[in-house]
This record gives sequence, C-alpha cells and structure tokens, in this order.
Amino acid sequence: MSATRFQRIMLKVGGEALMGSREYGIDPKAAMQVAEQIKQVYIKHVQIALVMGGGNIFRGIAGSKNGIERATADYMGMLATVMNALALQDALEKTGVPSRVQSALQMPAVAESFIRRKAMRHMEKGRVVILAAGTGVPYVTTDTGASLHALELKCNVLMKATKVDGIYEQDPKKFPKAKRFKSLSFTDAIQLDGIEVMDTAALAMAKENDMPVMVFELFKKNNLQKAVEGEDIGTYVSNNVQTQLVG
Ligand code: UDP
Repeated sequence: MSATRFQRIMLKVGGEALMGSREYGIDPKAAMQVAEQIKQVYIKHVQIALVMGGGNIFRGIAGSKNGIERATADYMGMLATVMNALALQDALEKTGVPSRVQSALQMPAVAESFIRRKAMRHMEKGRVVILAAGTGVPYVTTDTGASLHALELKCNVLMKATKVDGIYEQDPKKFPKAKRFKSLSFTDAIQLDGIEVMDTAALAMAKENDMPVMVFELFKKNNLQKAVEGEDIGTYVSNNVQTQLVG
C-alpha cells in the first residue's frame, strides 16, 4: 500500500519545464529533473498519466499573431508537444521508469494513438502514460487536454506543475507581498481577475465534474512527492474547500 493521498494522478507539465535555463527548446538536463521527480512518486506505486505542453517550442496564439492561420498554428503547437513527449520519455527511460507515449494526432511511427482503455491498462501495469497533442483539436490548450484526459482516465486529481508555487491573490511578480492561496474554491478560482493559472475552460470542466486541481511548483526538490503525499505545498482547488490564504 502506498501512503499517498492520490492513487492515480494527471500531471500537466508545461513545455517550459523542459527548457531549463534556455530561452527556447529542450534542455535534456531539465527533462531529467522532471523525470527524477516523477520517479519519486512512481516508486510509491502512484499511477501517472501526464499531459505534455509545447510552449517551449511553439504556441498557436503566438504563431497566429505572426500571420499563420490560427488552426494551422495550433496544429503546429500540438506537434511541438509530441517532440516534448518523446524527450520526456527518453528521460524517464534513463531513470528506469517505463512509459508509453500516446498521441491525440495519429503518428504511428513515433507514438501509440490515444486509446482510453489502453492508457488505463498501461497505468495499471505500472507504466507512465505520456499524452501528446493535447485534445487533437485546435483552439484549446494542453490545460484543457489535461482536464479532459484526467476525467476520462479517472484520475483523482489534476496536478498542474508551474514555475510559481501555487495560486496567488495577485501576480507575485508585480506584487511581492501577495499571498498564496492554500486552498481555493472553484468558484473563486474562476473569478480571479487577471491571474492566469490555468485555462478557464479546463477549470470549469474540473469544477463541473468535481475533480480537484492542485497547482504547485515542479522544480523544487521532492515537490511532486510532497504534493502527492498531501503536504501543504501549492494551492488545492476544489468544490469542497473554503478559500484560504497561507499564514
Ligand atoms: N494545442 C491545441 N490543442 C490542444 C492542445 C494544444 O491546439 O488540445 C496547441 C496550442 O496552439 C497550444 C500549443 O498546442 O498553444 C502548445 O500547448 P500549450 O500552449 O498548452 O503548452 P504549454 O503552455 O503547456 O507549454
């Protein structure tokens, strides 16, 4: 038995987590750091599905601002997530964690196609499932893909790994004294003005289906393990909690 709070998690890893200190693309060392964090919870028998972002390589919105048709740019963004997924699989393999990449866009030479039952089976057999290409359709982001896949794969929680250690009452970069929310009701989370933690669509879907969301920082040592074990890091968003600031 594992002493973890969650048995099956959906981990949303933004593309920037693979960038390390680079300005663009993939730093294999950063991918290894992500893999090491995943290994810490994998060895505790937590089942892990992971949705990989692509923002370190290409974002549809940015592409469309530069003149590429939005849908085309979004498909390019989805392809970026496939590259990241392969990089993370490589890193996981090096740490000894078995994984499978499933893509929402068919790409049989490099990844399995996303098949819900197969993804669940992989997790049951102790393989991390890395989901690439988000939802497979344009005009949304990988946050929405993570929310959607978390629901259909019956994950206990959607864990969104970010560069900030949770959700703050105000942007902590602009307001250094801003406090972090320890817990946040979905209703309050959706109404937070100017705080972009996660797509509203992704949050709304989690709220409607009563799936908690945890926002936490991935690059602090042992943080994923702490979050999975229920330590008070990050921000826990749920229909069943009162909104509460830290301290
Ligand atoms: N994308 C999309 N549909 C999806 C998921 C992603 O069109 O279901 C595109 C979109 O252009 C997005 C890009 O892929 O900007 C990369 O994903 P995202 O921006 O979510 O990556 P992250 O910010 O998590 O690194």
